[in-house]
Amino acid sequence: MTTLMPPVGGLLINPIKNGTVIDHITSGEALNVLKIIGITGTTTESVSVATNVSSGKIGRKDIVKIENRELRKEEMDRIALIAPRVSINIIRDYKVYAKGGVERPKFLLGVVRCPNPGCITNAHEPVSSRFEVLPNGLHCMYCDWLITNDITGHMI
Ligand code: ZN
Repeated sequence: MTTLMPPVGGLLINPIKNGTVIDHITSGEALNVLKIIGITGTTTESVSVATNVSSGKIGRKDIVKIENRELRKEEMDRIALIAPRVSINIIRDYKVYAKGGVERPKFLLGVVRCPNPGCITNAHEPVSSRFEVLPNGLHCMYCDWLITNDITGHMI
């Protein structure tokens, strides 16, 4: 008789030589993370995605591994908006070169588009969107609109 073990993060995806492992992604957000870092079906990066992996820390989590790519600060800030508990591991030569969490930025300048058609940032004025990151959503500092869901869908 064979007993199947539940998948464990480390075994589920093969190690990579160089690149980034984004761990502890809020379950269900892996595809949004890929969207944020610009991975589409047509990009050439080698990407592994594991979804709904058991994790004692947050119940279920997603994991994304990208070969030969290290994330920029701007990408980490965006990921922090949808998956604040991620840990980002930079891998160089099969070793963890740097590891850390992300921090939700307090303000977003030109990162998301205001959904309010009457907002000055949508009026063909040379005004970048400016949002304040609040616990319950993103607050437009020009028109007071509050974005509470589908944050990725509003990113520019
Ligand atoms: Zn606005």
